[in-house]
Amino acid sequence: MKRPGTGPEMEALVRQVREAAAQEAERVLREAARRIEADASAWAQVEQAVRDGVHRIGATILETALKTLGNGYERSVLPCACGGGQKYVSDRERRVVSLVGEVRLRRAYYWCPKCKASRIPLDERLGVAATDFSPGVQQAVALLGAQQPFAQGRRLLGELAGLWISQRSHRQVSERLGREAPPPKPLAKASGPVEDLYLLADGAMAPTRQGWREVKVGVAFAGRAGSDGEPQRLTTCYFAGILPAEEFGWRWYALAERLGRERARRIIVLGDGAAWIWNLADLHFPGAVQIVDWYHALERLWTVAHAVWGEEHPAAGHWISSLRKHLGNGHIARILERLGQLPARGKDARNTVREAIGYFTHNAERMRYRRFRRQGLFIGSGVVESGCKHIIGQRLKGSGMRWSLEGLHNILSLRLAVLYGPWPPPAKVAA
Ligand SMILES: [Zn+2]
Repeated sequence: MKRPGTGPEMEALVRQVREAAAQEAERVLREAARRIEADASAWAQVEQAVRDGVHRIGATILETALKTLGNGYERSVLPCACGGGQKYVSDRERRVVSLVGEVRLRRAYYWCPKCKASRIPLDERLGVAATDFSPGVQQAVALLGAQQPFAQGRRLLGELAGLWISQRSHRQVSERLGREAPPPKPLAKASGPVEDLYLLADGAMAPTRQGWREVKVGVAFAGRAGSDGEPQRLTTCYFAGILPAEEFGWRWYALAERLGRERARRIIVLGDGAAWIWNLADLHFPGAVQIVDWYHALERLWTVAHAVWGEEHPAAGHWISSLRKHLGNGHIARILERLGQLPARGKDARNTVREAIGYFTHNAERMRYRRFRRQGLFIGSGVVESGCKHIIGQRLKGSGMRWSLEGLHNILSLRLAVLYGPWPPPAKVAA
């Protein structure tokens, strides 16, 4: 058997492509030179034209390389699911949009006279049976769709890669790749025994066609106290979705199992202070150290300061700096004392203060930050922040967005895959 990419047929293809590429290169060069000579300030347009020309050469190369697969003809009749046979009818040509523009494919078309089902084996083999976009384009579109509103993604791909694809296709491709995205894996195997296992939970609201719904984000990571006493994070795993608390709890537990719950010396639950998190922690991780995420506690004080003095007033900042140390030391009694002394005018401000007093009273044991730090524990990790703000806020809450529940879940999965890997999805090894 001949090695792929060799042989007299291949040599003929190489000659053809070489000639076509040379002609295209000459045409692009003459045009670019003419325009730049006439007007040096047209450089931006000229380079775009050159890029497009290079893409056309690329499309010829890609199209030719794909030709070496043949047309996917197997034999004159293929078995059909209905029990009948799908007959080879003819070769059909189609266009697929690739990263270097459109390429043509010639594929054998099969059709079953009994049930009218049709099949194109080459499309299936190439992964383009249900789409007009090559796998490279699909990944680029989804990469953008995970990070940007589809309209922005469309513009970025158009401007940066010269590929203008409809906003609707951006959405469809992104959602499909999200649906197919493998769940995030722990990024690296923790070497040695798992010392500390952290479970984190957070929630954020997202706009859906059924109104605002809470998306919950669950995180687990393995950590240990480093040689300098500072905690180290070893490996992290995420999930997210519009999930009832009960289901969230089981998925949280499964995540913990995967990261070595049984081997962990300590289990730590970090939350924003919401009751459902502690209820689940008591249920699934009894005896775990419960910590209110430091940033959430601090944010709570900021909410109070803004309610009392307004967003801009310097007194708010002064008040926070005078409390930071108490909070850091876990002296919640001092915080409560200071909250009680606030000159809160107006009903809203008084309510905010009262709620904060409840929050700090109720969670005081979970805010003994000095002690936690001495034990080498994380008291707040950017992980929770990246959890909600990053996963949800930055992508799913844009103005005018209203997600279908399914679309939201697909984009959440896609976003987790893009942000935390593996992305791009590993190539399937052909059987
Ligand atoms: Zn059939």
